[in-house]
Amino acid sequence: MAQFHRIKGTHDILPQDARKWRYVEGVVQEVMQRYNFSEIRTPIFEETALFARGIGQLTDIVSKEMYTFLDRGEKSLTLKPEGTAPVIRAFIEHNLGEKKPVHKLYYISPMFRQENPQAGRLRQFHQFGAELIGSPAPEADVETIALAVDIYERFGLKQFTLKINSVGDAACRVPYKEQLQAFLRPRLDKLCRSCQERFEKNPLRILDCKEEGCREQTAEAPRITDHLCEACHHHFEAVKTLLNRLEIAFEVDHRLVRGLDYYTRTAFEIISGSLGAQNALGGGGRYDLLAEELGGKPTPSVGFAAGIERLLMVLEKENLLPEFQEGPDVFIATLGEAAKTWAIPAARRLRRQGFKVDYDFMGRSLKAQMKEANRSGARFALIVGDNELQAGEVVLRDLATSEQETVAMDTIDEMLRQRTASQS
Ligand SMILES: [Zn+2]
Ligand SMILES: [Zn+2]
Repeated sequence: MAQFHRIKGTHDILPQDARKWRYVEGVVQEVMQRYNFSEIRTPIFEETALFARGIGQLTDIVSKEMYTFLDRGEKSLTLKPEGTAPVIRAFIEHNLGEKKPVHKLYYISPMFRQENPQAGRLRQFHQFGAELIGSPAPEADVETIALAVDIYERFGLKQFTLKINSVGDAACRVPYKEQLQAFLRPRLDKLCRSCQERFEKNPLRILDCKEEGCREQTAEAPRITDHLCEACHHHFEAVKTLLNRLEIAFEVDHRLVRGLDYYTRTAFEIISGSLGAQNALGGGGRYDLLAEELGGKPTPSVGFAAGIERLLMVLEKENLLPEFQEGPDVFIATLGEAAKTWAIPAARRLRRQGFKVDYDFMGRSLKAQMKEANRSGARFALIVGDNELQAGEVVLRDLATSEQETVAMDTIDEMLRQRTASQS
């Protein structure tokens, strides 16, 4: 029979890696909660139109990368390629805006994009993200940025850079776009194909093209921060002042843009110093016009999303993952039928006391069981034979030091409690 294989661009997270994931998710949750963000879980798939409107028809994600399919009722569905549109859809659908003015929500979720696995891109990848929904204040932008920065700092990451920019709003972006197009028009034939396509509808994105030629052509391009309207200018200044007050270092990067009309004002990105070309750990910004685009009331909001796979890569590279103690507290090894009969209820009793307990399932010799105990990473072995059983005793062996002693059966719980407490 032919074997089955996982789909290209997906990973199985095996036990030795799953504990790293649990650690990362735990830290993310802890910092999110310190900032009083609450978790939201939205479905894995949504109506395709939500993403077409929420991400933008013209983006690569929507035009080339979505996992879109017809269900049996011929309805077009899409596996979520990003987290913000579903969160805002849920926010609108449940009228959360009527309950209180500001909602702080976070998610940790798999995302799906049909990207090229040859280029090291994943088709199922994982993100955590946060959305602060309902406030137009610069404090909200800074709350979100500080949250992202504090998550990375809580992991011990040192080599990262925060980049910020403002992309203006409806009032100032339209005249800026025209200026930018006027600057680019004579240089159009020197731009790459994708940039030529972006020129009419999405010229801001030409600024963040990674092609060397395009970067040369745009080096002297007008900068949006020099063309902000009064309100956007004040907002951007307030964000910078607050970041300074929090002693959060940042660089203003005029190439940091988000091409869609509902993105407004602050854009930010966190760049790792220890990754190669794919060095963005996460990014976000303000999206004051998205809720309306999705059929809701005007709801100024700001958020960010970050990749878990990239974060794990950096944590491995910078040696920032903790040592994991994954083995059981106790492995019960038995000799003889009576001891085996005793062991199974004893294991359950200890487990119900809160100990992590395992034993042999293969009917192996005592020697093989002890080997298994060592391999399992257990701290202690409880060794029981028929003689011990009759005397109401067990041998408690410390597998790290190989010291062992005989203890009364009814004191096992207490002994283990003392020993595991002193070791951890
Ligand atoms: Zn280009
Ligand atoms: Zn403006």
